[in-house]
Amino acid sequence: MPDPAARTLALFGGTFDPVHLGHLRVAWEAAEFLEAEVRMMPANVPPHRPQPVSSAGQRVAMLQAALLGQSRLVLDDRELRREGPSYTVDTLIELRDEIGTDRPVILLVGADAWSGLADWHRWKDLFELAHIGVLTRAGHQARESSSLSAHASGRRTEVVADLAQAPAGRIIDIQVSALEISATRIRSDIAAGRVPRFLVPPALLDDESLLAPYRS
Ligand code: ATP
Repeated sequence: MPDPAARTLALFGGTFDPVHLGHLRVAWEAAEFLEAEVRMMPANVPPHRPQPVSSAGQRVAMLQAALLGQSRLVLDDRELRREGPSYTVDTLIELRDEIGTDRPVILLVGADAWSGLADWHRWKDLFELAHIGVLTRAGHQARESSSLSAHASGRRTEVVADLAQAPAGRIIDIQVSALEISATRIRSDIAAGRVPRFLVPPALLDDESLLAPYRS
C-alpha cells in the first residue's frame, strides 16, 4: 500500500449546483486512471459565472449525500470556507501550505476550461503548484491559445507515472466518458416539476430537502 500522505491528490472544482452523474462519472474515471484520490471542491464565488442557485451549505449537503458509500472521491470544502472569489491559484497555495511541496497534486479541468486557462488569475503560477489533467472527450482535441501552447510546450506527458516524479508542472490528457448531463438542464427540469432520476445520484432523490432549492 502506498503511504497515503504520498498518494497523488487530484482536485475537481465546480459549482455542483447540483452535483450530477456527469461530474461523478468523470471524477471516478480520473481517479482510476490517475490512481489518485479526487477531491470534489465546490466553488464559493466562481469568478467566471453567475452565482449558484443553492447555498454553499446546500451544495455541501448534496455532495455529502452523493459521495456516501465510497472513499475514492471526497469532499473538500476549502473554497467555501474562504471569503471572496475562488481563485484556483489561491486554493492551490492554501493546499500546499497544508500538504507541503512534495506531494503530487493534479488540477482537473474540463477541455473548455483548459482552452480558456490563459484568462485565469495568475495562470502561469498554476504550473508551479500542480500538474494539470485535461478531461477530454474521445476524439476531441482541446483548442489552445498561442500563449497557452507556448507555456504548455514540453510539459505534456501520456504516462501517468511521470506525474509521480514531480509535484507539479506536467500536463496530461485524460480520456473520459462525457455524459450529456448538465446542471442547468436539471435545474430547469426540477423547476418544471420533472424528476431528474438517473441524472443525479439516487441519494439526492431519497431526501426531499436536497433538491428543494430548485423547485419553483
Ligand atoms: P451548469 O450547467 O450549471 O453550468 P455544469 O453541469 O456544467 O453546470 P459545473 O459544476 O459547472 O457543472 O461543472 C464542474 C466541472 O464538471 C466542469 O469542469 C465541467 O466541465 C465538468 N462537467 C460538467 N458536466 C459534465 C458532464 N456531463 N460530463 C463531464 N464533465 C462535466
